[in-house]
Formats: sequence, C-alpha cells, structure tokens
Amino acid sequence: MASSADDKHKLLIVEDDPVARKILVSVAERFGYLVTVCEDAESGWRYFAAETPRLVILDWVLAGMDGVTLCKKIRESKKGRFVTILMTTVQDRPADFEAALKAGVTYYMTKPVRREFFEAWLSAARKTIDDLCDLEAQEAHEARYRRELEHMNAQMEGAISRANELAREAEQAYIEIKQIFGTVAGGILLIDNQCNILRHNENFLEMAGVTADEMRRNKCYDVFPSSLCHSDDCPLQKIRKGDTRCESQTEGVAPDGKTVYYHLISTPFRGPAGDFLGIVEHITDITARVKAEQALRQSEQRYKELSIVDELTGLFNKRHFNHHLELESERARRYKLPLSLLLLDIDNFKQHNDTYGHADGDRVLARLGTIIAESIRLNDLGCRYGGEEFTVILPNTSGKDAMVVAERIRARFGAEAFVPTPDHVVRKTVSVGIAEYRTGEKKEELLERADQNMYAAKQGGKNRVVFG
Ligand code: GH3
Ligand code: MG
Ligand code: MG
Repeated sequence: MASSADDKHKLLIVEDDPVARKILVSVAERFGYLVTVCEDAESGWRYFAAETPRLVILDWVLAGMDGVTLCKKIRESKKGRFVTILMTTVQDRPADFEAALKAGVTYYMTKPVRREFFEAWLSAARKTIDDLCDLEAQEAHEARYRRELEHMNAQMEGAISRANELAREAEQAYIEIKQIFGTVAGGILLIDNQCNILRHNENFLEMAGVTADEMRRNKCYDVFPSSLCHSDDCPLQKIRKGDTRCESQTEGVAPDGKTVYYHLISTPFRGPAGDFLGIVEHITDITARVKAEQALRQSEQRYKELSIVDELTGLFNKRHFNHHLELESERARRYKLPLSLLLLDIDNFKQHNDTYGHADGDRVLARLGTIIAESIRLNDLGCRYGGEEFTVILPNTSGKDAMVVAERIRARFGAEAFVPTPDHVVRKTVSVGIAEYRTGEKKEELLERADQNMYAAKQGGKNRVVFG
C-alpha cells in the first residue's frame, strides 16, 4: 500500500447534516485538503475502499450504516491502521465516548461542530496524519526489504544445495576415476603443459620402478625417460601442435636393467572451457610382443635361408639348382653317364606384365612351374632359375631325349589358355635351349651353352627348342 503526497491530502467527510458539512468542508479546504463528501456510510465506505484518504471525518448517526460501524470497518481493513478518524456526534455520554474510541476513532468531537475547535483539531492532527503516513511508508519499505531478503535467502539456499550436489557428484566422479585408474592394464599418467606428472596409477609406479614419494613434483622425463623425451616425437609436443591422438612406441630400461618396450597412447587433457591443460598417457608394456615379433622375423629369415623351394612355382630355387647341378655333373663325369640341361625363358613376358599386371604375370609363372613338374621324371630336377627363366636338370638323359621333354613342355605351355581379363584369352610361349654335358666341363660352361641355345631360339623366332 504505497501512499502518495495526494493521498495525504485526501479527506473523506461522511455527514448527512448540511450545516455541519458546510463548516467541515470550508475549514478543511482552507487547510488544503481535497475533500470528498458522502451523505451516508455505504457510499463513504465505497470511496474509502477505492481511494486512500488518510483523514476521515464521520458523523455517528446516519441513515443505514452508522458512523461507528463504518469506523470499525475502516480500522479492520488493510489500510485502516494508517487513517486518522474524527467522529462528530451529538451523543455525549461517557459510554458513547468509550464505544467510539473502542471502534477506533482518533478523536471525538461533540456537535454542533464549532469552527474554531475543528480548526484547532486539524492543526493538531496534521502531525499525527504525517506520522501515520511516514509509518505506513516505512512499513511498506520494510515489507519490501523483507521480501527481497527472503528472495535472496531462497536463492542462497538453492545455490548451497546445488553446490552440495556438485560436491557429491565430484566426489563420486573422483572415486570412479580412481577405480578406473586402478583397473586399467598398464600405466596411466596425467601430465601438464610443463611436463609435470599430476596423477598416476599404481601400475605406473611398478612399471617405472619408482615410489609414490619419488613421484612428487617430478617431471615425466625424469621419472620415465625414453627416446621420445626432448624430441619432436614427444607426445606432449605433438598434441600441443594439434594432434588429437598420438600413438608411439619407445624402449627403456627396466629397474632390473633389461630392455623394455612400451606402447603409448596419448590424448589431450582439457579444462572445463576446452582449454589445453596437458595430456593423458596410457602406457602398455609390449616387451613380450616385440620379442615374439623379433623371434618370428629371425626364424622367417632363417627359414628363407634354409629353403630350397621357390614359393611362387613350387619348383626348386636357384641355390638348390646350383648345388644339384654340381652333384649331377660330377656323377656324369665319374660314371660316364649322359646329362642334359634345359634353360627355358618365357617369350615376351615383359609385355604380358605391362598389359595385365604383375599379379597376372605371376599366375603364368606358377602355371609353367606346374607344367614343368608334370612333364619330367621323378629324378629330374625342375627349378626356377630367376624371374621368368626356368631350368631342368635331366640326369642320365641324352640331348636328343631331352629335346622330347623340352618339346612336351613347350607344346603344353603353348596350348594353355590364360584369361587375364574376362574378355581376353591369351596364349603364351616359351623358348628352350638345351645343352648336353661334355666330360670334364664345368657346370658354368654347361649352363652357358644352354643359354646360348636359348638365345638362338629367341633369335630364330621364339616358341621353339634349340639343341646344337
Ligand atoms: P623375351 O621374349 O626376349 O624373353 O622378352 P621378355 O619380355 O620375356 O624378357 P625381358 O627379359 O625383357 O623381361 C623379363 C620380364 O620378366 C621382366 C620382368 O618384369 C618379368 N619378371 C621377372 N620376374 C618376375 C616375377 O617374379 N613375376 C612376374 N610377374 N614377372 C617377372
Ligand atoms: Mg629373360
Ligand atoms: Mg622372356
């Protein structure tokens, strides 16, 4: 209920006697009041309820509701406490006076209304009216202040309860992270921008061979030195430059002095606003895997060295050919037995590779390998000499007989239909040179003569066998 300067000057007079009314109105207006006159209590009440007069002058005896009843009604209303009420009446018994005071009148004046008394009262009442208006304003101010305080309290309580909730959530998250840290295989490190280790799991301590105390205020390159430290491959550097994930492999020395291999996965570690704070590093000991791979590579190499078979064609390889030719030429020399050698070279093979690709070329080579193997005897030796060149050692076989074998291979290979692409059928041919062992000659000489004959076959138009 805000009061305004105007409210303070509003005066309601409820009076049915015109003479009294005249005096009251004239004096009040002279005192500067905005006077509203009602002749009965009902219209007086309506005016009071709609406006906010701070000074009300009531006659006791009225038609309908009387002045004392209206006075009570006003006092019981919300804004009734701040109103100054003067009662004018002809009732002058002490009981009337008491009844009027109990109903809440401020002052009681007997009729007939006397101008000078009314004037005196108005002057004296001004202070009371002002004080009541001030009190009203003060109470309104206090009420507003109380409301604001209550609102602030409610907000504060909300903020405190949210803060408590966040603290509980943070505590729970911390417990969960610790459990994840503990459960995860391998070491976990949280490293800040300056290479300081902020957090680590128990596994890491064991891996790096350090105690929790030694970890305090330590740089990652001191606690866990590796070939990546202080290099362009440092995961922190790489991620700082923009990598979102970085995988690296490094080796170090275990507490027992042995070489250990580690696999590192590093990802950025950011603050709530997305600002870069450092990296999370997951370190796994992959020594067992690296050692197994090394052992496998060594055994593969060893296997290759020991191997006598050409993988692609299934024939023997050049190393075995050389060894075997040595033995066979020695046997031929010692026992005076015939020995022949075929040297085969696929015709225009480069062109086939260039047209249909190397993989298809390999299929042709493999097929010739099979044809050779199927066309010779068990004690003959078919080899892939290198590239698209093949050899066959034919023990106890004359050059003439070798020509039959060579011709069989040439014919079968030439009849083979290759289908490098669905709409192409291709025939390939082979040129063959034959040499028969001459007593006492070296195996290189025998090979050289076979090669010359193969060259002659090429010169003669390819797809043929030459022995001479
Ligand atoms: P020529 O008729 O004179 O023998 O001609 P050519 O094209 O067969 O002979 P050249 O010596 O010019 O080319 C041999 C080709 O054999 C070249 C090479 O790409 C191919 N070659 C060698 N080894 C392999 C192999 O293992 N696989 C495949 N697909 N091609 C091979
Ligand atoms: Mg060749
Ligand atoms: Mg060739």
